[in-house]
This record gives sequence, structure tokens and C-alpha cells, in this order.
Amino acid sequence: MSYFENCSLCPRYCRVNRYITIGECGVDAHIRYANALLYKGEEPPISGKRGTGAVFFSGCPLHCVYCQNFAFSQMAHGKTIDLAQLIDIYLALQRKGAWTLELVTATQYAPYIVASVEQARNEGLILPVVWNTSGYETAETLDMLKATVDIYLTDLISLDEDFCEHYIGAKHYPEIAKKAIKHMYEQKGNLQIDGEGRAKKGLIVRMLVLPENVNHIEKSLRFLSEEVSRFLSISVMDQYTPVYKAGEFPELSRKITVGEYGRALATVEEFGFENGWRQTHRLSEMPATKKVIQ
Ligand code: SF4
Repeated sequence: MSYFENCSLCPRYCRVNRYITIGECGVDAHIRYANALLYKGEEPPISGKRGTGAVFFSGCPLHCVYCQNFAFSQMAHGKTIDLAQLIDIYLALQRKGAWTLELVTATQYAPYIVASVEQARNEGLILPVVWNTSGYETAETLDMLKATVDIYLTDLISLDEDFCEHYIGAKHYPEIAKKAIKHMYEQKGNLQIDGEGRAKKGLIVRMLVLPENVNHIEKSLRFLSEEVSRFLSISVMDQYTPVYKAGEFPELSRKITVGEYGRALATVEEFGFENGWRQTHRLSEMPATKKVIQ
């Protein structure tokens, strides 16, 4: 595939030939994945009761010092497969009862994803396809994915340039992510859920609450509220764990507190969001939020 000979699949625009070398994402032109399983930990319309069929791909164009999936995203651990094997994985997850098909950090394989989902649909794949991404996407790649992806499940890591430069290795992330999220919203709109509670189409934006609010979540919420929509589905996540290189940064070397999570939820309420989820699985005490639904 010519996409891999002069790779510009993500905003790094490495322009390397991935048939002979690797790019900033750490992977060459072969499909590489770390795991494929039914996973119940996503938002309810994505996971359902039996779990989403999650495929975790190897490599990542970003370099978050606290990456929660560092073994396969930063160290590219995983197994090399071909297109036919990837299609088999999708169909096997569907046979196991997956509620949706979730492709996790797959940007660096986008042309393979388009081809594999199309072929899998010809072979009986009917699950909604979820694109789990960091929000670090180009308009060209999002356009390539338009007919393949039903739901964008994107992180909005931070809109603070200093944070992005120091902790995720991409000072330009805020500009890129803002454009990408607007583009995703134009493509898919607000989240649509069918009568069984399954996500069918739309956009969900996730924000991970970090210690001391180092990623300035209020900047992200202001952008979403003023430039996207306060009817957008948002997910405010409490599960930060200080892994990978986080220990080298004292401000990132602990979990968040109940108070920090509560302040993030209060900010969500201030901006008037109507739809979304908060998490309860790691915190024992929750503040009241009226507008963010569970
Ligand atoms: S997908 Fe990888 S090789 Fe291609 S532009 Fe992005 S980081 Fe570079």
C-alpha cells in the first residue's frame, strides 16, 4: 500500500517508508496487535453487558509519559498478523457476543483497517465500529475512515501547550486535537443509541483527570462547550495510574484524589454539559452532579 511508502497517516508526517523502517509511532508496515478480547470497561453503550470486542494495536504516534497502555503503545509489544487474520479476529469477537467492535490506537494502520472492516462486513460483520483514539488525527485520515467507523471514542488529553510539550511529546497537540474533534463531530454528530442501549453512531470525548489538574481540564471543557456542543457525550475518567515514566515526574506519581475528581466534575457542570458518564469504580465518595448523567 502506497500509504506506507511515504507515511503521513498521522500529524507527525514522518514521510518514512515503513516497508524498510519505522516511524515515530514505532511500527513498520506490518499489522501488529497486542490483544483482542471482550472488554467491559468502556462506556455502557460501547461495552454493553458482554463487553466490546476490543483489538489493541501496537505502536502510537504520541509519547505520553504516563501512558496507561505503554507496553504495546510505546514499546510496540505485540504479534504481527496479516489482513486475513485481522478479519478473523473481528469475526471471532462478534461470535463471542461483542456489543461493538472497538479498534484501539489504530491510526498507524488506518488503510488496513478500512480494507479489513470492508471485507469483514462482506463476511458478516454487523457490529458498530468504534475508533478509540488519542484525538491526534489528520483530516485526511479521518476522511479515509468515514465509511468504516461508526463511533469516534476520542481522548482530549489537554489543550495546554506546555503540558503537551512536556508530558506527551507533541506541543502542537492542542491545535491538532481541536481540528480533529470538530471534524469527527461534523462526520458523526451527537451519539445515537439504539433501543437496546447500543451506540450506533456519533462522538464521545474522554478526558482523563490528572493529579493537580496538570492538564488543565477546564480548557478542554471550555473548547468543547463553546466550539463543539454542550450536547456532546463526554466521559470524565478517574482511573489515572502512575505507570511508565510517570514516576520521574513528582506531580504525576500518584493517583488522583476524591477532591480532584470532584472539582473536575464540578467544572463539567459549570459548562452545562448534558450527556456523559462519570466513573465510580476507583473512588469511594462521589460529589453530586446533576447534569452529567450516569
Ligand atoms: S503513522 Fe507513524 S510513520 Fe506515519 S506519520 Fe504517523 S508516526 Fe509517522
